[in-house]
Amino acid sequence: MTLPINGLHHVTSLASDARANNAFFTGTLGLRRVKKTVNFDAPDVYHLYYGDGAGTPGSVMTYFPFPHIARGRAGTGEVGETVFAVPEGSLGFWQDRLGAVDGQLATRFGETHLRFAGPDGDRFALVESAGDGRRGWTADVPADAAVLGFKGAALRLRDGGATGELLRFMGYEVEATEGAVTRYRVPGGNGADVIDIEVLPGAAQARQGGGSVHHIAFSVPDRAAQDVVRKAIADTGYQVTPPIDRDYFWAVYFRTPGGVLFEVATDAPGFDRDEAPAHLGEALKLPRQHEHLRAALETHLQPIEA
Ligand code: ZN
Repeated sequence: MTLPINGLHHVTSLASDARANNAFFTGTLGLRRVKKTVNFDAPDVYHLYYGDGAGTPGSVMTYFPFPHIARGRAGTGEVGETVFAVPEGSLGFWQDRLGAVDGQLATRFGETHLRFAGPDGDRFALVESAGDGRRGWTADVPADAAVLGFKGAALRLRDGGATGELLRFMGYEVEATEGAVTRYRVPGGNGADVIDIEVLPGAAQARQGGGSVHHIAFSVPDRAAQDVVRKAIADTGYQVTPPIDRDYFWAVYFRTPGGVLFEVATDAPGFDRDEAPAHLGEALKLPRQHEHLRAALETHLQPIEA
């Protein structure tokens, strides 16, 4: 059976300062903020979404900025690096823009990665993506350099066996191995179709905090596809949550053997569900159950615009 997974849907991380986070992702990286809302479970904390012009699945980086959260400690059992795709020939532009030095360039699987840190020490890389048909958001960055979306994510695990097996079950195929890293790719994916597993048997466990990835979400088209994936994963013995309405998609979550939290999210209904496409991310949007808190939240939440 082939499960209907298309690659990544979004990556969600933790930040310490909403304004710095917004400035970095919309200013420096040139993504579009496609939604400004709050954490469903902690409505006094923002949930900020950045992506391409529409917030297309496979392009969406999201953050929970918890003011003064302690910095995370890198280690195993987490996403070690989130990788964005940029157009062929644009790494020089990005090296200049990020003020990067040569030491931040690395070669992996024959591709040049430009590594850089986010505002909380978040570990990112840009990689040129030849023949990538996606289009980035060009308000701040020219079209021939704009971030196209994710290329994928690299997991750091003590033991990659069971998680690799899970990825294969989810439709990923082993593409290559280089040193301690095995590259998995989902055929026919949305462009955000690579997962690398780096195995570090002796490394310490990560401690989640500011700059850490909280979870990664995989894309399925709709709720029917999500049900198929949910049932298949649950039938292999995983504890999977029931589908949860996240306003812009439906989500199910499960913890993987290596420790990383996975989500499977629907592409529908999308970010234009409650805002016109021309105005995505501008107004504070609240989940229905938190709408009664609007006055208090508008006072409490730090303004994020400069
Ligand atoms: Zn999520």
